[in-house]
Amino acid sequence: MTSFDIPEALVRAEIDEAALCDNAAVLADRLSPARLKCVVKANAYGHGIDLVAPALFSAGWREFCVATIPEALHLRSLLGPEAQILAWLYGPTTDLDEAVRADIQLGVSTVDSLDRLAEAARRTGITARAHLKIDTGLGRNGLAPEALVRAFDWLRRHAEERRTADTDHGDLATAPDAAADIRIVGIMSHFAVADEPERPETAAQSAVFSSAHGQLRAVLDAADGRLGESDDLDVHIANSPGALTLGPCPGTSARVGLALYGLSPLEDGDPAVLGLRPVMRLVSTVINLKDIPAGHGASYGLTFTAATDTRFALVPGGYGDGLPRAASNRAEVAIRGRRYPVVGRIAMDQMIIDIGAGNNEVAIGDEAVIFGPGGPSAAEWGTWANTINYEIVTQLSARVDRVARKGDGR
Ligand SMILES: *Cc1c(COP(=O)(O)O)cnc(C)c1O
Repeated sequence: MTSFDIPEALVRAEIDEAALCDNAAVLADRLSPARLKCVVKANAYGHGIDLVAPALFSAGWREFCVATIPEALHLRSLLGPEAQILAWLYGPTTDLDEAVRADIQLGVSTVDSLDRLAEAARRTGITARAHLKIDTGLGRNGLAPEALVRAFDWLRRHAEERRTADTDHGDLATAPDAAADIRIVGIMSHFAVADEPERPETAAQSAVFSSAHGQLRAVLDAADGRLGESDDLDVHIANSPGALTLGPCPGTSARVGLALYGLSPLEDGDPAVLGLRPVMRLVSTVINLKDIPAGHGASYGLTFTAATDTRFALVPGGYGDGLPRAASNRAEVAIRGRRYPVVGRIAMDQMIIDIGAGNNEVAIGDEAVIFGPGGPSAAEWGTWANTINYEIVTQLSARVDRVARKGDGR
């Protein structure tokens, strides 16, 4: 405990938990009968995993995905043993025992990981649940065709070893390490261009995925359930764009991130049209006002010069909070429902807003909506900074307070 109270941060991300849970329900409806997996990696896309994950869990959602094992362990500590947690990104020396002990399911993208996961199961005495991750064309992580052949070989060999061990030891229950092994509980892949529905690659990826799924089923069936049940496989390839653009969702579940937060992964996509509401409202406060004569500059480099007499409002919020400096002289913020331009460079901690000469509508202490309901969208900030809404929300820094805001329809 500290001996003093830390006042609230100047820049706050208000998280609308009602919007979050409504979005989850809308998406789950759309995906059904496939199930929703809530992707909460990267601090819940910058929204604050400590708020987001428990809110979703309380609303009844049980399947969660993160990228890394540290994220997964943190999530386990937040949600307890009932949540199903999947992580897929780790290195050749990452300790997998902790993940297995915490019942984290892992995506497997290399044959080496199969080996290491089976060892982790033996060492910990706990079943290691794995989802085979197939590279169907993205070229990122996942087993590419040649590695997939070797992974299937590994599984066949491993099943054979188990079979031998089982016979040597009579029945399964008395075999010394029979209880703790690797089990393949899922097969997954990831789309590259599902946000561009007219492109043919998505169908091609789906076809490769179906074929891998068929082969995996055959391998599992031949192993007589020693490696997992083919009928129980969790099959998932769709992300937010896939979930929103494909007719019926392929597979048994979908890993949805961005859309959960009420943001659209589609260019010019309006979340409202999809029945989604932005979850984050990033707000700051006007802390200074000054009248500026024509010819006066603004911020580092004086890249903006006032053409006429005007009035500047100073708003805390800069790249130290994760706002993109690239949006300098392009972005806008909203004060009392009106949009005003950001002038000059966005600095580490603050930005200058040009509210116009004699503007008596804006007062010190007024709330400034940087993005979210009542202001510009995260997607607009993405355009201003030559990036995407995903990056705008995810890069918000630790200095920004994430605060729950019970939905009031604003
Ligand atoms: C981030 C990620 C997702 C979620 O993607 P969205 O477009 O945010 O829905 C799903 N699967 C994998 C493998 C990812 O890395």
